[in-house]
Amino acid sequence: MDAITHALARAPKARLQACLLASGLLALLGACAGPGYTTPSPHPGAGHPRTQSLPPWIGLTGWKRLDQIEGWLNSNGPVENPKWINPARLALADGFLNIEDASGEQLQARRRERAKGLYSTVSTDLKATDQEKEHAAHGLRRADSSGIPRSQAAAQLTGVLPRSAWGARPARPNDMTPASGPWNWITVHHSALSATDGTARNRAAHDVRTVQNGHMGASRAYGDVGYHFLIDAGGRVWQGRELRWQGAHAGGSNNEGNIGICLLGDFDKIRPTRAALSSLDRLVSDLHRVTGVPYGRVRGHKHWKSTNCPGKHLEDHVSRLR
Ligand SMILES: [Zn+2]
Repeated sequence: MDAITHALARAPKARLQACLLASGLLALLGACAGPGYTTPSPHPGAGHPRTQSLPPWIGLTGWKRLDQIEGWLNSNGPVENPKWINPARLALADGFLNIEDASGEQLQARRRERAKGLYSTVSTDLKATDQEKEHAAHGLRRADSSGIPRSQAAAQLTGVLPRSAWGARPARPNDMTPASGPWNWITVHHSALSATDGTARNRAAHDVRTVQNGHMGASRAYGDVGYHFLIDAGGRVWQGRELRWQGAHAGGSNNEGNIGICLLGDFDKIRPTRAALSSLDRLVSDLHRVTGVPYGRVRGHKHWKSTNCPGKHLEDHVSRLR
């Protein structure tokens, strides 16, 4: 472990944060493991006594994991298992980027710089695979946007109507999970409520309340409406669940790092309006800029489970967004 990591790891608040994040970190690193990440395959060289079958940081969480990776990179490990070098660099960079808040802006900025250095090294490494390079490029975009505190991210989005505009019920924080990791996905849904193709503002606000009531009611008992944004047929964008919370729209761990957008209407039956689609496009573009979610990671709900959502007419559009 070098001096910088040592300093970062030992900052008292960072330690507390590390404990809080320890359980989440592995899951986050795992969530990052989407298409952009390759789990190192076990080395076949069983005849080499010093060759390990799995990287030594697998199974570790939090700072322990990052210390282990840093130590491995500075040891003979890379010579013995060169295939793990870029996965190690990416995991370390992701780790630095995923630890946020509480430890002060200066420390965060230094971690961000270290993460960018690691991602850049992978991007320019001739031995890096395409997947590793994509992961590094994604990481660099995130590093550039992660200076914006999560709580302020929504303020960077243009034309989003506040919760007060639709008469939101207060959220129940105890029934929600803080969004502690990077945003990796955007998932598009339809409400599939009946008769929701009107463009009147009052009607749309009513529909947003209906969706929230359905999500917070006894059968689901979510802490709030499950989507982060809702878009009506008139093209208005309504703030749903705040971005500082993980959404509840894609099922279990699929919600990690996954921004949920719901268009009001049933798009198996009707086509979304031009106004709604152009608002969706603008919102996706803003979210890409503010949160770093790549365009390649916009999906319809049916990507995550067997469902008609977001309806065939909307799915057509969503598939063209990536
Ligand atoms: Zn859905």
